[in-house]
Amino acid sequence: MVIANLSQPQTKIGATNILDARIRLRHLALAEAQTHGRPVTDFIWSPDLECASRAATQERQSQRVALIYEVLWDHSEFYRRKFETAGLDRNAVQSLDDIHKIPLTYPHEWLADQEDNPPWGTFSPLTQDDWLERGWMLFTTSGTKAKAPRVFRHTAVDRDLWAWHGARALYAMGVRRGDIAINCFGYGTSVAFWGLHYALTLMGVPVIPGGGVNSARRALFIDRYRPTVLLGTPSYVLTLGRELAELGIDPRASSVRLLVCAGEPGACVPSTKARIEETWNAVMHDDFGCTEVAMSPLGYTCSEEAAQKERRPNVHLMEDQYLVEVLDPETAKPVAEGERGMLVVSNLYSEAQPILRYVMGDWVRITNEACACGRTQARAIGGLQGRSDELLKVRGLKFFPAAIEDAVRSLPDVGDEFIVELTTTGELDCMKVTIEPAVELGDESKRDALKLSSEYALKGLLGVTTEVEVVPRGSLPRTTAKAKRLFDRR
Ligand SMILES: [Zn+2]
Repeated sequence: MVIANLSQPQTKIGATNILDARIRLRHLALAEAQTHGRPVTDFIWSPDLECASRAATQERQSQRVALIYEVLWDHSEFYRRKFETAGLDRNAVQSLDDIHKIPLTYPHEWLADQEDNPPWGTFSPLTQDDWLERGWMLFTTSGTKAKAPRVFRHTAVDRDLWAWHGARALYAMGVRRGDIAINCFGYGTSVAFWGLHYALTLMGVPVIPGGGVNSARRALFIDRYRPTVLLGTPSYVLTLGRELAELGIDPRASSVRLLVCAGEPGACVPSTKARIEETWNAVMHDDFGCTEVAMSPLGYTCSEEAAQKERRPNVHLMEDQYLVEVLDPETAKPVAEGERGMLVVSNLYSEAQPILRYVMGDWVRITNEACACGRTQARAIGGLQGRSDELLKVRGLKFFPAAIEDAVRSLPDVGDEFIVELTTTGELDCMKVTIEPAVELGDESKRDALKLSSEYALKGLLGVTTEVEVVPRGSLPRTTAKAKRLFDRR
């Protein structure tokens, strides 16, 4: 009877025949046996991957895509349904050349799957037995865009891999033995904090957990224990710098030399980057991922890119762990290298959640040119450009919120916090920006002058007539996590 089972094509999810188990074990073995626990060179942690030829990187991606497709076919009810609906069979994906056959996965499919199959949904290829012994932890999205946050489990193996990925990124940024880190992300269910925490631990870098305490306590930690690496959202890193100054501690003279920022695009917004680097007298780096598909750094800046002053930094993509596609949103076909398109990512390593072709929703342009640092993997030109669902259309002009941030923060007499409101008067869009002065202004005529000069400058930078309101310093809320600055009331 066993022989008969083996000769049958797989039709039932979760069937435990030998062939099935062998494929899954191959996947798990691959997931576990690829790490370098220590850096290989003085500058690059995993040079065999980070400096591989394009052909070698693609060969690796090709093998992984084929294997993960098989694993998902056999073990993920969600993907089996998707593949069958698309008319695919178990052998449909043998290499990267077949990637276009795989249907795209959208964020809303996740919620529907979890609502229909509570509490976890049917994405993961792990079995009930696996979950009993793989040391899972729960993570969620922030839940700001959807009604409910999306919920995930990741295993101990996954978290070990995040540590290695994160360590490679931090090493590229210049984090080394002798550094001390203060990690100012919330100690919650988001993946970014944990991934960076595990990465620092793998590197042997001492960590001061900066979550769950206020800015005054963090300032004390910085002053007394002299961390050299500060991790947080760009908004918070800026706020913390100001608060240090108010407490009589000069952030420019502090021990902090590297700023590792995640959660917002600030490290690739030139005027925000300049403001933050000036505040801290430190180099600011970008680290981005995506809770659903790229839990560890998908993108990170190296020292060469972070040092750029004349242009937005380009961000390295960890292509040995993620397959990055840039597609035309209308046709879902790849755009040419260097052209802007929609970012679609496949996770090529995860044990709990190897997702294929997930639509992250960001606009991106990439280059395959080798970087001056020696790494050969693709880079996102100027980082992520913005999310397609955030693209604003104001009086016929289209731009991302980051463009407004860049414009406002480029005005030297304007403070760090600002709010943008979009309304309509009749048929016409109206944009209002509320700002604080950079320094206390004595009288009303100075506030009026700042209003007029800011309105003039923003019209020139954005091409849109903008009403500016100047409010006293300290009136606008200070940001402690991800900033909410845009209110579209149209
Ligand atoms: Zn580089």
